[in-house]
Amino acid sequence: MITENINDVEKKIEEACKRAGRNREDVTLIAVSKTKPVSYIEEAYNTGIRDYGENKVQEICDKYDVLPNDIKWHMIGHLQRNKVKYIVDKVCMIHSVDSFRLAEQINQECIKKNCDMDILVQVNIGHEDTKFGLNEDEVESLIMEISKLERVHIKGLMTIAPYVSNPEENRELFKGMHKLYVDITQKNIDNVSMSVLSMGMTNDYEVAIEEGATHVRVGTGIFGERDYSKNA
Ligand SMILES: *Cc1c(COP(=O)(O)O)cnc(C)c1O
Repeated sequence: MITENINDVEKKIEEACKRAGRNREDVTLIAVSKTKPVSYIEEAYNTGIRDYGENKVQEICDKYDVLPNDIKWHMIGHLQRNKVKYIVDKVCMIHSVDSFRLAEQINQECIKKNCDMDILVQVNIGHEDTKFGLNEDEVESLIMEISKLERVHIKGLMTIAPYVSNPEENRELFKGMHKLYVDITQKNIDNVSMSVLSMGMTNDYEVAIEEGATHVRVGTGIFGERDYSKNA
């Protein structure tokens, strides 16, 4: 089932790229494996997928220990400062930075472990109370501040768009994210080299690609519905 789902998602990504006049290589598919067992990831791995998204520190550590070390783990969930130390040497990117204090903590833990960390600044583009992330007008000043940290490297922006029944409803938000991304890129801020725009999930990744996403995060569309009933 997972292999078929991946083939289906892959086809849709290719078609969205074609519609937008983009190259397939310019979009990275991140398979969001949160709550799903290791065996599911192994099946996806065997189809060639190397980028996986998780939102819990403990789950990243558990899976990291037992899965191949060429997997690139993406931290896509809200991150508490006291847990940063467990993942700075395990993940390739933290998508969910929304404060200087968190970035500072990442920097300190990287110094201790002698590593570096790529990060994205999370933007709450839909202005939803339930979502983490900054308003658009706060993004540039946070990036200026974070850019001074030596071990933390800002690569771009991430957003979680609202859940909508018709993905077209999110097109304007994705456009707005792309504009913000281009605006900030053009400021040429020292030590910032923007190359990642992480947006689009199962429900709306095709629209996100049409509007310029470089990374899409697809969970349900690959691994099926998540069951949270056991640890509610
Ligand atoms: C769970 C999650 C996803 C994947 O959502 P699906 O709708 O299952 O594709 C993507 N991004 C983030 C930040 C998530 O927490």
